[in-house]
Amino acid sequence: MPVNFDEKLYFIQSAEDIKRFMRGMEPYPNLCPVCNFHISPHFILVHEKWISDHEKLEEVLCGCPRPECNSLFFAEYEHLGYQGDRPYYELIKLYPSAKFDENFAETIAELSPKFVTIYNQAKHAEKEGLDLICGVGYRKAIEFLVKDYAIKLNPSDEEDIKKKFLVPCIKEYIPSQNIVFLTERAAWLGNDETHYERKWQDKDVQDLKMLIDLTCKYIDMELTTEKYKLEMAEPRR
Ligand SMILES: [Zn+2]
Repeated sequence: MPVNFDEKLYFIQSAEDIKRFMRGMEPYPNLCPVCNFHISPHFILVHEKWISDHEKLEEVLCGCPRPECNSLFFAEYEHLGYQGDRPYYELIKLYPSAKFDENFAETIAELSPKFVTIYNQAKHAEKEGLDLICGVGYRKAIEFLVKDYAIKLNPSDEEDIKKKFLVPCIKEYIPSQNIVFLTERAAWLGNDETHYERKWQDKDVQDLKMLIDLTCKYIDMELTTEKYKLEMAEPRR
């Protein structure tokens, strides 16, 4: 039997309807996932979605009141139970979220366009709540970044750099000890994201992102310094 939505949709047309159909869902969402502004959304309808005989979600269709955005989005609530006759819910997520790409320094974007693409895919996965798999993406991103950097410094060893494992590769080809240090730590945390058992219980994806951010800054500093060394090697008379 196809789903009959007529029995599961509640249209919200007044403040009374909000009280009636959204009882127990307070506090209401105050953020638009599309534009990321704090807002007081318009509520349009509530859809009761049963996921088993005794478990249900409420999907609330909302509208962002900002004229620049005017997007529709969903607030999804899990029904947790009743206090007396009053239902109570937990707000689980707001979606869809807009893609906000991370902006990297020009030197980094030029050095490794693949790094930028992979990093932003991982970031988007993280924003969508895929927190168990985004770390693998971040780990892959830093490998592209530092290997592209190693190739830039050692163009004749490109094939060897591509083939080698990350950590031995950077130790051999990257002279900056800070970049080697940071990449090695990122690889350790990256392994935690890939393997069954976590070795660094007190570290997480945010630490991995911080290590990548620092690595970008060091590479940017090195490349920018090199540029000035080339452009301004000698004093002008
Ligand atoms: Zn908005």
